[in-house]
Amino acid sequence: MLNVRAYAAPSATEPLVPLTIERRATGENDVLIAIRYAGICHSDIHLVRGDWGPVSYPQVVGHEIAGEVVEVGPSVTKFAVGDRVGVGCMVNSCRECENCRAGMENYCLKGNTQTYGSLDRDGTITQGGYSTHVVVDQDFVLRLPEAIPYEAAAPLLCAGITTYSPLTHWGAGPGMKVAVVGMGGLGHLAVKIGAAKGAEVTVLSHSLAKQADGLAFGAKHYYATSDPATFAALANTFDLIINTVSSADIDLNAYLGLLRLDGTLVNVGAPAEPMPVGVFTLFGNRRSFAGSGIGSIAETQEMLDFCAEHGVAPEVELIGADRINEAYERVLGSDVRYRFVIDTATL
Ligand code: NAP
Ligand code: ZN
Ligand code: ZN
Repeated sequence: MLNVRAYAAPSATEPLVPLTIERRATGENDVLIAIRYAGICHSDIHLVRGDWGPVSYPQVVGHEIAGEVVEVGPSVTKFAVGDRVGVGCMVNSCRECENCRAGMENYCLKGNTQTYGSLDRDGTITQGGYSTHVVVDQDFVLRLPEAIPYEAAAPLLCAGITTYSPLTHWGAGPGMKVAVVGMGGLGHLAVKIGAAKGAEVTVLSHSLAKQADGLAFGAKHYYATSDPATFAALANTFDLIINTVSSADIDLNAYLGLLRLDGTLVNVGAPAEPMPVGVFTLFGNRRSFAGSGIGSIAETQEMLDFCAEHGVAPEVELIGADRINEAYERVLGSDVRYRFVIDTATL
């Protein structure tokens, strides 16, 4: 066992506070990682505030983890002490089901073991990356390309893969019109990755406040969804729409109407509430409505290598641990430019 410093939510309604937690001893196939930086994902906020169901408090969140290997178990072959590594949203899966055997552990039929808030193999609840160290099975650890600094790597481990995966699966590339709804943590990476893949990217944001940024990230067009004229102007336009909005408080049918023939709207935003979809909107243009959950370990490694090769990096605002609670309020107020990243030296 190793006692390590962390920041934890004591309940759904109180601010996060410093806490010492225990990490398991480094097992046969485990690596012990000294975490350098951890990103703040909107999912962290959904979970600690109980949006997705009951939580076993105190809970440490954080699933955008970048750091250095400081110890390896005796059977570890993939990593050595000193390696630059990352951990994303999952730390294990059943490894036996159809989806795991197909290399898509993110869709494990028994439910993958999430980096935080999941029942771990030793009966404890997993604790996430707002912490100085974590112990993870080598099969769920990613190798960070040299070209990507630690603080830029962290947000790629969730926001990056969650947008890279549907952009890749639905074939974003030259000749394809892609819209990104919501330009926060996930959205700004969707714009950068979509543009790097050669697609013509349009941002659909609340307002035009971030227009100059969106265009600098590689978008060709930028529209405010608060203006009803946007929906008339863009009807039947896009091959692919990635919805990253964290709230269910949007009219999905209005966005579906922006898809051209055989277009797909992929929801990656994760509000707990159901979102009504009218089938007649789907009939028009033979539209599809889909969802996508993070990405596999192999695809996450592919994404990291792609970002290194194409110079794709998130815009990060580095903070000390004492600003985590303030950062949460700013994320909830859509006031993030574009990912808060915690320097774990301040924990
Ligand atoms: P974020 O940084 O807060 O970005 C969300 C963006 O959505 C905001 O910046 C804002 O963009 C827009 N938005 C927020 N509230 C809105 C509202 N009421 N109406 C319209 N637009 C609104 O959050 P994130 O970290 O990118 O995460 C986004 C969502 O994805 C969360 O629900 C998170 O849990 C989920 N998620 C899912 C997966 C997955 O595997 N599917 C993985 C990671 C995260 P504008 O200001 O540009 O309008
Ligand atoms: Zn996340
Ligand atoms: Zn499985």
